[in-house]
Amino acid sequence: MRIASIIDISLVDVPGIPVTVIFTGGCNFDCPYCQNASLIPTTSGVETPIPEIVARATGHLSDGFCITGGEPTVQSDLPDLLRALKATSGGHINLNTQGSVPSTLRESLPYLDSVWFDMKAAPSRYQEVVRTRSDPWGRVRESIEMVLASDVEFWPRTTYVSGLITPEDISEVVQLLDRLGFSGRYLVQNYIASAGVRTEEAATLSTPTKEEMEALRTLGSGSVRVDIQWNEVVLSA
Ligand code: SF4
Repeated sequence: MRIASIIDISLVDVPGIPVTVIFTGGCNFDCPYCQNASLIPTTSGVETPIPEIVARATGHLSDGFCITGGEPTVQSDLPDLLRALKATSGGHINLNTQGSVPSTLRESLPYLDSVWFDMKAAPSRYQEVVRTRSDPWGRVRESIEMVLASDVEFWPRTTYVSGLITPEDISEVVQLLDRLGFSGRYLVQNYIASAGVRTEEAATLSTPTKEEMEALRTLGSGSVRVDIQWNEVVLSA
């Protein structure tokens, strides 16, 4: 499996649980606002044996793991890593995914406790936003339904980017989640042009205002509540 980096402990990736964060390399989407753009190439990261990943990721003061990237499910041996982490620590295991590889996700579910599921846009706009050769929506929808039908906690989340994502996108995601039987919190976070963003790709994009973000709360409907997470720009010293 290709690993880009491991952060010993994070208090912000899984609510209420300190986790060790494992970043995988490679992604099959090409979102213009990607904040980890150096991890998109399939050659990013370093091919690392699973026992070595487990050794580096365990023994910290965390109570679990968050696997992110890149897109972890493009790594076909992801289920093997998850199985090894579960057997070693027994702690909470969270996966960040955009859901475009349901076959790997299906094999991963037995070892997962929660999934942050990146809802990119309204279904009709997926291909335009993630810039793939073919429309990934059918596979993404399959993954959403798969997690909802499992015992794994499903945490939907969208990054709201002015100049790309609209209130109509958020509203359509809310209606979709409601139709699929999801009940609970749908988190919408603001985009910020962090150091990991490609400047040219993001030239027409901008950080939404707090007022724009707050207005999205009203789009909650049925059993779906829209919660807002406001990320501050971190200025380097
Ligand atoms: S899916 Fe995530 S990692 Fe992949 S390009 Fe989009 S934002 Fe970046």
